[in-house]
Amino acid sequence: PHGGTAQWLAEAKQALLFTAVRPDVVMERGEGMYLWDTEGKRYLDFIGGWAVTCLGHSPAVIREALDRQAATLVNASPSFYNKPMIELAKRLTQLSGFDKAFFASTGAEANEGAIKLARKHGALNLGGAYEIVTTVNSFHGRTLATMSATGKSSWEALFAPKVPGFKHVPLNDAESLLAAVDERTCAIMLEPVQGEGGVHAADAGYLHTVRKLCDERGLMLIFDEVQTGLGRTGTMFAFEHDGIRPDVMTLGKGIGGGFPLSAMLTTSRFNLFEPGEQGGTYIGQPLAMAVGNAVVREIVERKLHEHAKEMGDYITRGLESLANAYGLSRIRGKGLLLAFDLPAPRGPELVAACMEAGLLINSPSPSTIRLMPPLIVSRSQADDMLALLSGAMDRLRA
Ligand code: PMP
Repeated sequence: PHGGTAQWLAEAKQALLFTAVRPDVVMERGEGMYLWDTEGKRYLDFIGGWAVTCLGHSPAVIREALDRQAATLVNASPSFYNKPMIELAKRLTQLSGFDKAFFASTGAEANEGAIKLARKHGALNLGGAYEIVTTVNSFHGRTLATMSATGKSSWEALFAPKVPGFKHVPLNDAESLLAAVDERTCAIMLEPVQGEGGVHAADAGYLHTVRKLCDERGLMLIFDEVQTGLGRTGTMFAFEHDGIRPDVMTLGKGIGGGFPLSAMLTTSRFNLFEPGEQGGTYIGQPLAMAVGNAVVREIVERKLHEHAKEMGDYITRGLESLANAYGLSRIRGKGLLLAFDLPAPRGPELVAACMEAGLLINSPSPSTIRLMPPLIVSRSQADDMLALLSGAMDRLRA
């Protein structure tokens, strides 16, 4: 049944708008920790759909939730309540301690919601303040507003003019933050652990300062937990590590386990939208809601956040044991959002060598490797990853 890859690739290059450099494989099937391409080659997946497939590939709970919901109601309309929408709002607010949930499809959309809510807060409560302070090296999405919120220097000159009203300050630099906040500021937005930026965690002390500043000035504090949320960092939400609660938290990626689903959670205090100001065709889409319920229930019941913590520690020890031999440095991260630096900017070559050997890893910048496997990863799969990784590093050196 396999083969035909050359034809698929030719058609891909012909018909798809070019937006990404992709290797010459076509992924066909997934199960658990593994993906298979159209040649039947198997890959151990330590990218996890970019921190998305938290329950692994094609888990039974997602298949069953989709089957059941598709047979009941695929779509009514965002104008109506539906049962799985209500269920997921209740489940997520109870789990997180927030009061209110808004649903969307992508992380960027959840962040758009947060940005709009912050501006509404500024308009209503802060005399028209509209500026949002975010961090250098952050990532919040690829829509025009979330791209403008993103602190990525290589994007600075792109797609001008940017959406105005964003200022970027270095993470963990309280002085720069204090200097940036003024009477125009309505919110501060950050990732508790920067993901795309290379896995850099916010310090507890810094987060305390940020929370205090927001409280004193009435600013909205937004945590983008699109990558860190739902068990990824070893706690259910990354804000729990330091006990600093934001006013708004966005979720995406893992919440759908591979299905497009995102959420924005907030408190009753920020229940500020009037009808029609925020929404969309797929808000509360029943299939997505059903999957969200299944995924969140599974993470909670199996305590996958605790497993992520344990496996993160295990993998970290494994990487530390390779560090001397291969010159790996700054092994960092929390739970199953991990990264390390290479002695030379050869990340893309290492990614390719690992792929050749049947292992998928990510290189967010040339000298950094990031690991974000499904939360179900086992010790023996972690051992396999370490063996394939060191083998690939050996070949690169040879
Ligand atoms: N925020 C963070 C922290 C992310 O890591 C990402 C995706 N990498 C996004 C937002 C955007 O999510 P999406 O691609 O689903 O729009």
